[in-house]
Amino acid sequence: MENLQSRIEEHIEKLSQFTATPGNGTTRLTYSKEDRQARDYLIGKMKEYGLVVREDGFGNLFGKLDGTLKDAPSVLIGSHFDSVPNGGPYDGPAGVVAGLEVAALFAKNQIKPKYPLEIIALIEEEGARFGGGLMGSRGITGLLSEENFKKLKDNEGVSTEEAMVKIGLDPTLPKKRDPKTIKAFLELHIEQGPILEEKNIPIGVVEAIVGLTQFEITVEGQAGHAGTTPMDRRADALVTAAQMIAQFPSLAIEEGAGTVMTTGQLHVFPNGANVIPKKTVFTVDIRSGKEEHIQNVIRKLNELIESYRLDGMKITAEQQLYMQPKVMNREIVALLKQASSDLETPYCSINSGAGHDAMVFSDVTDVGMLFIPSKDGLSHCPEEWSDSMHIANAVQIFFETAKKLTEASSNDQ
Ligand SMILES: [Zn+2]
Repeated sequence: MENLQSRIEEHIEKLSQFTATPGNGTTRLTYSKEDRQARDYLIGKMKEYGLVVREDGFGNLFGKLDGTLKDAPSVLIGSHFDSVPNGGPYDGPAGVVAGLEVAALFAKNQIKPKYPLEIIALIEEEGARFGGGLMGSRGITGLLSEENFKKLKDNEGVSTEEAMVKIGLDPTLPKKRDPKTIKAFLELHIEQGPILEEKNIPIGVVEAIVGLTQFEITVEGQAGHAGTTPMDRRADALVTAAQMIAQFPSLAIEEGAGTVMTTGQLHVFPNGANVIPKKTVFTVDIRSGKEEHIQNVIRKLNELIESYRLDGMKITAEQQLYMQPKVMNREIVALLKQASSDLETPYCSINSGAGHDAMVFSDVTDVGMLFIPSKDGLSHCPEEWSDSMHIANAVQIFFETAKKLTEASSNDQ
């Protein structure tokens, strides 16, 4: 366990050095020089741990331990290795490193799986260079087509394929992967929230990745002079918007079950200090682990809008995004919990409030996910920190689970 923990610390430390902003967090954009450096490190470790290394036409990285069954689907373990600008060393790499160390345990214990084990390191989950995010997993599963991939450009007008070639990757390699070649996907990720740390529990077994919906709401009133229009003669679009937004927290709390509701964007027109606002446009983001909660909040939001329409304001709501919650595979969730119990590692159930590659894979295969605590709940910043002991706990839980999923046998069992 101590060896495992120190190897994990070394991987995280090494990978964190591949940053475009030394001394100011991890900045590792997809297909950058730092991507190449991290990739070379991971390829070296995969080979050292006896894995056969392969890349696809997106630059996703796979290290495979063959199984004894011919043409059998693989159990994948991993996460992404890109970062946001000035991010932290754990968001993504923690999951890749966990996969590597599961492979190391297979090698050390001379375990022969029936089904292949593949450690994967995915590109562009954050979408910091080409936008959209979850690009590696969307590519593998076919959600992102080759045609659309080719069209993507970064801020400087560099296309995905140009950027790939520049760091020695081959965009002509196969892209979409046949789902029949995947048996399951396991991902470890930092929680990026405060729940596990507050409860002092080292492992969160993810039950669902929350569904979300986003609306854009437009309130239209009447502009007028801020000095000459009496208070009882106004149709102030900002006052109405503010009254609505102020009610969102209680709508979410009333719904319960971790339902959250956020207004993150607000535009005021004409936006003059001495003009009564004529129009406001704001966003509403609603998330929950259960679809019925999202539906309930949408209904309440519509009732709220209707009540202000009766007050004489013109209000329109446009739904811009709807994603169903993704429930993790019941059997894998049970295996993860069983392994935690057997290893005497305390765990609790948790929902993921953020999107992850596991969410994309859940459309094509059985998926399981673990969270570890984030110090002070922080992520996407240089202060992001997680305990290597918790990563080691997750590695052992994944090791036990992967042995079952790959139907492995070993000399000592
Ligand atoms: Zn991440």
